Amino acid sequence: MVSRVIPVDPFDLVIFGGTGDLARRKILPGLFRRFCAGQMGAESRIIGAARTDLNTQSYRDFAKDAVREFEPGGAKNAKHLKGFLELLDYVVVDAKGTQGWSDLTKAVRDDVIRAYYFSVGPSLFDDLAERLHKHKLDCPGCRIVVEKPFGHDLASAQELNQIIAKYFDEHQIYRIDHYLGKETVQNLMAIRFGNMLFEPLWNSQYIDHIQLTVAEEVGVGGRGEYYDRSGAMRDMLQNHLMQLLCLIAMEPPAKFNPDAVRDEKLKVIRALDEVAPDDVVRGQYEAAHDQAGFREQVGNPDSTTESFVAMRAHISNWRWAGTPFYLRTGKRLRERASEIAVVFKDAPHSIFDVEAGVHRNILTIKLQPNEGIELGVTIKEPGPGGMRLVDVPLDMTFAEALGPEEADFPDAYERLIMDVIRGNQTLFMRGDEVEAAWAWTDPIIAGWQERGEAPLPYASGSSGPDDALMLMHRDGRRWREIKA
Ligand code: NAP
Repeated sequence: MVSRVIPVDPFDLVIFGGTGDLARRKILPGLFRRFCAGQMGAESRIIGAARTDLNTQSYRDFAKDAVREFEPGGAKNAKHLKGFLELLDYVVVDAKGTQGWSDLTKAVRDDVIRAYYFSVGPSLFDDLAERLHKHKLDCPGCRIVVEKPFGHDLASAQELNQIIAKYFDEHQIYRIDHYLGKETVQNLMAIRFGNMLFEPLWNSQYIDHIQLTVAEEVGVGGRGEYYDRSGAMRDMLQNHLMQLLCLIAMEPPAKFNPDAVRDEKLKVIRALDEVAPDDVVRGQYEAAHDQAGFREQVGNPDSTTESFVAMRAHISNWRWAGTPFYLRTGKRLRERASEIAVVFKDAPHSIFDVEAGVHRNILTIKLQPNEGIELGVTIKEPGPGGMRLVDVPLDMTFAEALGPEEADFPDAYERLIMDVIRGNQTLFMRGDEVEAAWAWTDPIIAGWQERGEAPLPYASGSSGPDDALMLMHRDGRRWREIKA
């Protein structure tokens, strides 16, 4: 099968924070890949904007280094690299001052799609939005892209929404959650809503429980100060795991359009029950061998911030009443592995001599490090020896059937940026979704603070605190092993 790359219309993409880490590691290399794939042409412009005193040539050098470091294979194609760098421009702009704004006005064009990527800390959103307006750069068709963290609680998320809404309509705002840009996450929607096989079984009558795991092997690294203020709940669960939960649990939207999909996701968040204190386990990793522990890494010997959180959540609606959702995420765990596992119930009556709970269909959506979807089915173990059962995985990724070009799909950032240019908000969070997610998360965090609860220590390279295992054991269930 031949890969179908549909080119986007010419655009100007202004990257505020164009000299930052995100631009260097994700945005510029991602755009380069789309250029190589033929999705964006020579008429488009990428304009870096930041305070650092660079010019167009030195910004191109910066981008060349970024592409060579993070897209080394593609960067070997000198023609592609040269062509891509020619799209780049740079304007010195101070988001908080007056410098550079009239230069930016001259750098953008009126006759192409225009998007502003706010790849800066949220404290600058207000300044940027206000100055874009003041300099008449907030055209009705312009889009703005904002990064996580979108607030640190409900009040701050509401404030951010209000700030941006002063100058931009909701249809212009693209709140990025890069988990939604993953091929497999979208495939989950295709599998659920494009087939007859799954949806009739997709409810508490047939599904025993659902597990969501986002496990990281690394610690907080250089983000210690930020992470100590945030923690796993705010940094991962409120956004990434919540978005995955929504896609798994939502009702089929009437249409595949941005608002229909986001309306259904919002209903899931609003149907989440309050979480009881003993349904949540927090953990903090300890020092191991030559690796510093969490407190040392964040430079706060008294830190009570969690680097791990696990919980049992319930969705109170007709579809899910009685089906628990177990969520866990953490740093310095055994391996880097993220997956969603939909565990179906036992067949209602077994004609084979098998123990309950041993042979269950499990639909596994793997997100990291490799993406893929597998359905575990029970078959007869081949050969003589009677009717012995064995579970085998059916690979539903079908990379081989679709051919190598299809398997080489864009990474989440590049796909999402192309969606911004196309004006498709389906895979972006709407303001009310973000607020609803904080409204559910805030009381959990407030409860920890009121009770003065400290996180439980866990060994680096483990599966988290033992109490997290108990969270499932007490229900007669067990977590799947964390493995890549
Ligand atoms: P960073 O490395 O600290 O970069 C910040 C950028 O903002 C720099 O380009 C800086 O350039 C620019 N900047 C700061 N003050 C400015 C001002 N007054 N006017 C104009 N530009 C200004 O941060 P980052 O890691 O790239 O993160 C950017 C945003 O993405 C943050 O909100 C972060 O939370 C989010 N994010 C980052 C990652 C990641 O992997 N890095 C992942 C998810 C989300 P100058 O100093 O040259 O002005």
